[in-house]
Amino acid sequence: MQVSREKIAREVKEEFAEAGVDIAPEKIARIVERRVLEEIKRGVQTIQYQVVTLMTTNGQAPFITVFMYLNEARNEQEKKDLAVIIEEMLKQRIEGVKNEVGVYVTPAFPKLIYVLEEDNIREDSPYWYLTELAARCTAKRMVPDYISEKIMLKNKIDKSGNGNCYTCMGCRSFLTPYIDEDGKPKYYGRFNQGVVTVNLVDIALSAAKAAGTVSPEDRLAAFWKIFDERMELCHRALQCRHERLTGTYSDAAPILWQHGALLRLKKGETIDKYLHNGYSTLSLGYAGLWECVYALIGKKLTEFEGEALGLDIMIKLNEYTAKWKKAECIDYSLYGTPLESTTYRFAKCLQERFGIIPNITDRNYITNSYHVHVTEPIDAFEKLALEAKFQALSPGGAISYVEVPNMQENIPAVLKIMQFIYEHIMYAELNTKSDYCQVCGWDGEIQIVKDEHGKLVWKCPKCGNTDQSKMNVARRTCGYIGSQYWNQGRTQEIKERVLHVSQPVRACC
Ligand SMILES: [Zn+2]
Repeated sequence: MQVSREKIAREVKEEFAEAGVDIAPEKIARIVERRVLEEIKRGVQTIQYQVVTLMTTNGQAPFITVFMYLNEARNEQEKKDLAVIIEEMLKQRIEGVKNEVGVYVTPAFPKLIYVLEEDNIREDSPYWYLTELAARCTAKRMVPDYISEKIMLKNKIDKSGNGNCYTCMGCRSFLTPYIDEDGKPKYYGRFNQGVVTVNLVDIALSAAKAAGTVSPEDRLAAFWKIFDERMELCHRALQCRHERLTGTYSDAAPILWQHGALLRLKKGETIDKYLHNGYSTLSLGYAGLWECVYALIGKKLTEFEGEALGLDIMIKLNEYTAKWKKAECIDYSLYGTPLESTTYRFAKCLQERFGIIPNITDRNYITNSYHVHVTEPIDAFEKLALEAKFQALSPGGAISYVEVPNMQENIPAVLKIMQFIYEHIMYAELNTKSDYCQVCGWDGEIQIVKDEHGKLVWKCPKCGNTDQSKMNVARRTCGYIGSQYWNQGRTQEIKERVLHVSQPVRACC
């Protein structure tokens, strides 16, 4: 921004000199600031529209994240400038992006992350106005998501013993803390080698089958035995991913490896060096902790024994990634897989292998990562506090969310939740609804209903429109927003979500 400011100042001075007008420096400064702001507006708009109109080969928008972190600025002026850009980014997202019929709707990308920090978290903080704007944006457009600098600095300690605060990737994988050859923390330009996800529910049900109807102790013993075997299987699968990348020449993807998206390697150079010693990560994903624990001991993660066993399983998963990392100098990291459409596949496989078991395999989805089951009634604050314990054990990435009603008229309550996130959990988000029916103009929630064949379909509550091509539906599945519809399993999960904030909401505690 400083570069633009200086360039514009030169131009303005030249223009007035050419016109033969003598003008006071303060007036020039005002004109310059106004033009800088115009440039920012156009820049933000260009980024927004370019990202949503770019498509990958399978028709998805690129998974781009805009990370809004004031403390990333190197000096006070830069921080002020950054605040101006953040403000513009939020204002334009609140407005939305025009759909094919010219109505402003919620875009899925770029994903926005706003960092909560000492400078913006309280009413008397200098950048509180940005946090209020972020709250309004969340209530209307589901983003930004929130990172707590306070908790992240505790969770992400590098080998020099310093805490780090940085963005996750679009898929919300977090890299491990890393210090480059110059002794500086490095988070941009690094990458993830891939993910292999273990279905924890399958291990629990395999153990129950192997142990028969004997005591819970025997069932647990069988569980840990099968767990070890499955971990070795995951390890082999992850090694396959790593081996697949080994020996890749930079020429295979010049934008990534040669032109600076990730690295600036020479032609004919391999990427091998960057697959080891922490530059990139390799993710062990996991899913279905809720059903796994319930299958083993009949307890929920929200009950004391369930929580204890759930945490034990998470600790054990981390022991495996640490062991592999030590042996191979590859940064294996535990990752709460988003499981977008795979949730349906995992659930179907469980039903085929074990039949329908109440509360475990009787739905067409399984619960993401360590999350509390979507049907479990729990208060937003309790949910975030409980899940924070699990999230700290999911260093390769995970996000917690609370499902909320329309809160556009209750911004103080949104702010209360954000302040709670700052004090308790590293990374969280609020899920609200943001839909639009192109037939009748309804902009409330589009509902999920069963059609005459028992299939779940989206239906406008106002005019009854069920044509997906004539509505805009945006839902957060797990970390990022989808607007291209989901398979039957994920649709059922979205339908069954309970609210974690009652309606109407009051701001007082
Ligand atoms: Zn309608």
